[in-house]
Amino acid sequence: MTEVTFHNTLTRKNEPIEPRNGNVVGLYCCGPTVYAQAHIGNFRTFLLQDVMRRAIQVAGYKVIHVRNLTDVDDKTIKRAIEEDKPLTEVTEHWTEVFHKDCERFNMLPPQIEPKATEHVQEQIDMVQSLIDKGHAYKTDDGSVYFRVSSFDEYGKLSRVKERELTTDTSSSGPIDSDEYERDSMADFVMWKSRKPADGDVYWDSPWGEGRPGWHLECSAMSMKYLGRNLDIHSGGVDLTFPHHENEIAQSECSCGHEFFKHWIHTAHLMVEGEKMSKSLGNMFTVDDIEAKGFAPVVLRYALTSGHYRQTINFTMDSLHAAQSALQRLKKFSDERLAEAGLKRSALLKAISKGQHNAAPWAAFEDAWNSLSHDLNIPAALGGIFTAIKGLKISEPSADETSQATIAFHKLIFALGYDLDSVVTEKPSEEAPEAIKELAKKRWDAKQSKDWAAADQLRDALQTEGWKILDQKDGYEIERI
Ligand code: AMP
Ligand code: ZN
Repeated sequence: MTEVTFHNTLTRKNEPIEPRNGNVVGLYCCGPTVYAQAHIGNFRTFLLQDVMRRAIQVAGYKVIHVRNLTDVDDKTIKRAIEEDKPLTEVTEHWTEVFHKDCERFNMLPPQIEPKATEHVQEQIDMVQSLIDKGHAYKTDDGSVYFRVSSFDEYGKLSRVKERELTTDTSSSGPIDSDEYERDSMADFVMWKSRKPADGDVYWDSPWGEGRPGWHLECSAMSMKYLGRNLDIHSGGVDLTFPHHENEIAQSECSCGHEFFKHWIHTAHLMVEGEKMSKSLGNMFTVDDIEAKGFAPVVLRYALTSGHYRQTINFTMDSLHAAQSALQRLKKFSDERLAEAGLKRSALLKAISKGQHNAAPWAAFEDAWNSLSHDLNIPAALGGIFTAIKGLKISEPSADETSQATIAFHKLIFALGYDLDSVVTEKPSEEAPEAIKELAKKRWDAKQSKDWAAADQLRDALQTEGWKILDQKDGYEIERI
């Protein structure tokens, strides 16, 4: 096993993963709310979690991946009522769509995918244990709330107490007022008493008819399936507070020990510089992007090639850049496999089974170091393209070639690119705007005799798959 580190939101430090149970890593990811097709922002998060899992596997660990399905909440119930259908019909339909989308993206299915509605008893048990221990109380309407003041460590993940001191919570600050009701503003609901708006969606409980609050399902289901393996818990950055903070409070108070060790949060995706929203019409799905002529593998590349802790801006240009980068990866893979007489699918299968875990990284050492240290995908991609260039120049021995072929495909497995689905026909010769801008900056740098900057820009263009042909009074941009 080699070291894999991730930034831990809990400690604010980059830390190696240290499974509680030998070489088995428990990875719990908050899954989709199944009331509509997941958008590309959701998929940025799910895809990055897929890369996390794959990278941990490539490092030599076994991963138990659990991703829940939120199949009962305000949104799912609202949708079922609007469509005048039973809740399960609506959620099963969107679950199926979600699974198909995951397959199109070449995502590894989690081994366990629990549904909230199939774990109501476990959630009731957790609420009861919290009432018994004095951490929760029932209100007159039959709801049950968690008493935040009963847990001294509340706020340790999101540092919400520190934020409360400096933020005006009466304005539209970071705190969601819906989560604040009852005895204290901070107390949050674990069991919601039945309301007319819920229609026929309710369960019996010791406190009367109702349904579990959203935070509860992830606490109950992660403890059930990863009891001995509470290693990594992940979600989008918006889930840090209140969702994950509340999960920690419920879980640690009910079980009396530490919940997950490592908390990993992914930054959001913006579209053309704007937050995604229905009103702006920019909540794209994989279908929308495919209709524009880009295969899911291209979208996968575009959604995951930025650093997971940085917000990324999705643009059409990023799809063109992704397409050309993938074509170069595929070309390298095709050439190397042909030389070695190997089949891509067989090699990737062997890698997925861990058969090449101990193989040397050879020319791809830097790329793997980047990927295994806080999942630095952009640096890993830079390392891959640099290594490819180096191998072309250095005329490696047969041994080096075969090591490099395996190492390269271990990275391709970790990044999850299905190179078979990359279209190889020659891409458009017209450079996208971003490339034209880079080329202009390089020309300006050259004119002002800033040779270092000009060289750096030329390399950046090369990484994107473009070369510059200088002429007397200008330049041309050509595909490599
Ligand atoms: P939901 O289905 O709303 O529960 O969200 C599923 C996952 O997508 C959660 O981990 C969210 O944090 C994440 N998510 C939501 N919006 C975005 C976005 N714009 N960019 C990245 N991740 C997101
Ligand atoms: Zn969750």
